[in-house]
Amino acid sequence: MFQSLQGRTAIVTGGSRGIGRGIAETFAAAGVNVVITGRSQVDVDAAVTALADAPGKVSGVAADVTSPDDCKKVVAAAVERHGGLDIVCANAGIFPSARLEDMTPEDLEEVLGVNFKGTVYIIQAALSALADSGHGRIVVTSSITGPFTGYPGWSHYGASKAAQLGFIRTAAMELAPKNITVNAVLPGNIMTEGLVEMGQDYMDQMTASVPAGRLGTVADIGNAALFFATEEAGYVTGQSLVVDGGQILPESQAAIAEQ
Ligand code: NAP
Repeated sequence: MFQSLQGRTAIVTGGSRGIGRGIAETFAAAGVNVVITGRSQVDVDAAVTALADAPGKVSGVAADVTSPDDCKKVVAAAVERHGGLDIVCANAGIFPSARLEDMTPEDLEEVLGVNFKGTVYIIQAALSALADSGHGRIVVTSSITGPFTGYPGWSHYGASKAAQLGFIRTAAMELAPKNITVNAVLPGNIMTEGLVEMGQDYMDQMTASVPAGRLGTVADIGNAALFFATEEAGYVTGQSLVVDGGQILPESQAAIAEQ
């Protein structure tokens, strides 16, 4: 049904583990050359090794998305390695907990810096290369937390994820004349290393609140991101797609029990 993406090139920030690695795997399986990033060189190398047999070539660059210079370095590497850049997945993110009464200016700056400013920096760095491709695709990993839901300790995180959605609507307008689309995937609770670090109680609580009865997989998010990257999705821009097994739907805990 969809035209092949074989031979296209994508950057996936935070592709060294979790959802980003899942997006990288899905794209590489579709023949897309993928450049993954993360701050830890060890994790980047491990992910590149794990994805070495995919049809698309996967390589890495250790980089911090809070640094505009690092973001330029990642884009330059992708263009040099593959002759151009077609897709950017702005996925790198952190979700440390801090309740309002304890939240320091540094906590706030860190979460907004990685999740929101990091999204903007990698996209800014890629603009010229994406325009040159003639069919640029930007896919942002937001969240249901912030745009739809709340969770104690995550007021700064939720704000950063909602900020991404405010950003994509105007970015989509500015970039439409260049044939670049800008869309967002909003994951529910997805089984990643980061989620495991939240603890078993958190994961059990979340599983119980999902009508589908399971946590999401990184492939669930990879497939949604892949759709936005297709040629056929070229008329879809400024939109957000919730991928959460129905988690935001129940009006109450009893509603789940009555399913
Ligand atoms: P994860 O397992 O903790 O992975 C996070 C990735 O981002 C790692 O590759 C990490 O590598 C990278 N990263 C973190 N800070 C970075 C920085 N400053 N510069 C570059 N890379 C950085 O997290 P995840 O669960 O996959 O989450 C990925 C995205 O999905 C985030 O945007 C998150 O908000 C969103 N999300 C996740 C869930 C979920 O249930 N898991 C739900 C909704 C939304 P390094 O640490 O080595 O830098």
